[in-house]
Amino acid sequence: MTDLAPNSTSQELHAETGGCHVGADEMLRAAKAAGKSEVLDRYAADYPKGPHDQPQSMCPAFGSLRVGLRMRRTATILSGSACCVYGLTFTSHFYGAKRSVGYVPFNSETLVTGKLFEDIRAAAFEMADPALYDAIVITNLCVPTASGVPLQLLPKEINGVRIIGIDVPGFGVPTHAEAKDVLAGAMLNYARHEAIRGPVQAPRAGPSSKPTVTLLGEMFPADPMGIAALLEPMDLAAGPVVPTREWRELYSALDCAVVAAIHPFYKASIREFEAAGRAVVGSGPVGCDGTAAWLDAIGAATNVAPDKIAAAKNKFLPAIKAALAANPIKGRITVSGYEGSELLVARLLIESGADVPYVGTACGRTQWSDVDRQWLEARGTRVVYRASLEQDLGAVAEFRPDLAIGTTPVVQKAKESGIPSLYFTNLVSARPLFGPAGAGSLAQVVNTAIGNKDRFDAMKAFFEGVGTGHAAGVWQKAPVDRPEFREAFRRKMDKAAAARHTEEPV
Ligand code: SF4
Repeated sequence: MTDLAPNSTSQELHAETGGCHVGADEMLRAAKAAGKSEVLDRYAADYPKGPHDQPQSMCPAFGSLRVGLRMRRTATILSGSACCVYGLTFTSHFYGAKRSVGYVPFNSETLVTGKLFEDIRAAAFEMADPALYDAIVITNLCVPTASGVPLQLLPKEINGVRIIGIDVPGFGVPTHAEAKDVLAGAMLNYARHEAIRGPVQAPRAGPSSKPTVTLLGEMFPADPMGIAALLEPMDLAAGPVVPTREWRELYSALDCAVVAAIHPFYKASIREFEAAGRAVVGSGPVGCDGTAAWLDAIGAATNVAPDKIAAAKNKFLPAIKAALAANPIKGRITVSGYEGSELLVARLLIESGADVPYVGTACGRTQWSDVDRQWLEARGTRVVYRASLEQDLGAVAEFRPDLAIGTTPVVQKAKESGIPSLYFTNLVSARPLFGPAGAGSLAQVVNTAIGNKDRFDAMKAFFEGVGTGHAAGVWQKAPVDRPEFREAFRRKMDKAAAARHTEEPV
């Protein structure tokens, strides 16, 4: 096994199959023919697609890769084209992964002869040292999934180290957020069966003396502490956050009184919690209305006496109200993102005084975001699930907001048109959202950004006339656009794709 070994043959293969850019249907057909029907049908049911059939943001496998890399005593091996693995490894180190990503290289021969699977198996045996690892996560990317590399045939455990094999193809898992659920769900399933078989490891800090609430979805590090404070008057404690940071936390996550699906798209994980007999509550303690409704729902699911729920509300709602009033946000804001918390952020902005006409999330619709969707729609917000980039950009053009919160291309486009904008992932997700700490936490960054409008106008005026698109820059003679060339290339590509299609054996 090597770390990022250059592998030109696999790159050629990637180019042949087209990777992200080949028709998703073609990849899907190949994968099903190669024996991956069951897993792909499950993904289709868990993560139904939207207007776009392929990810419009980063490679989805980044989500599951990141979950594995954040866990203690967990090793990660990728199986995929070298260019995909290079991109994923680069991005994971860019985001501060502090360990190596394993890679089993392949070429056309090892892929089609089944030798790749044997190489992966050998790599797992070589790596499975119980002194170092609790688990090894092995991920098939697009090409090995389409070729049917059967990770399900790997041993479930080697030398006491758990082996988790998952397929995370771009043509089966729409977003990197949902890929986190693929791995979290696979781990919960494994841990649940371990717990069924016999005693399992206790939490690092010992068992909780109170019934716990498992928090589903990655969140700002201070948020679980804020939520724990909210639960305290109800004699409940905050349990682990799933995806967990350690294998043993999976057992305590399963051993909860109720699951709070703060991020509503974790369908595979919820399936495991439900199989363990746990109730699931959607939404989160955001703003005044959200916190009140969430405390009611958690209290009802755990049979907490009404006076204790009232005590929690009396203790925290006035503080939240005061924090919101002290940090008002004035202005029209569009929100789009791919984290899964977009609806909660929009609620907080509205409770802070903002007008939010549009929320687009790349994640699919589930019943666990119904409360938030209904609350937002009752206030005139258009909520779009599986929002495409075109829909997000269309909303910015339609509503001309004072601030566009969004993904990189949305922010780029908004700035180009002189609209202040903020990156959802880097600037909004990196703040507390819940309870008193969340109320008012967005005001400073949002108000500062809205206040930058004059600077955008000045910049736009300064650069006026330097050209845009193909003519951007300073020229002695502005370049002439050639849309007919692009049209001719497009026709050639369509013809080549049609020819490939008819040549395929039926
Ligand atoms: S693994 Fe990711 S980067 Fe590679 S082809 Fe699939 S979606 Fe694209």
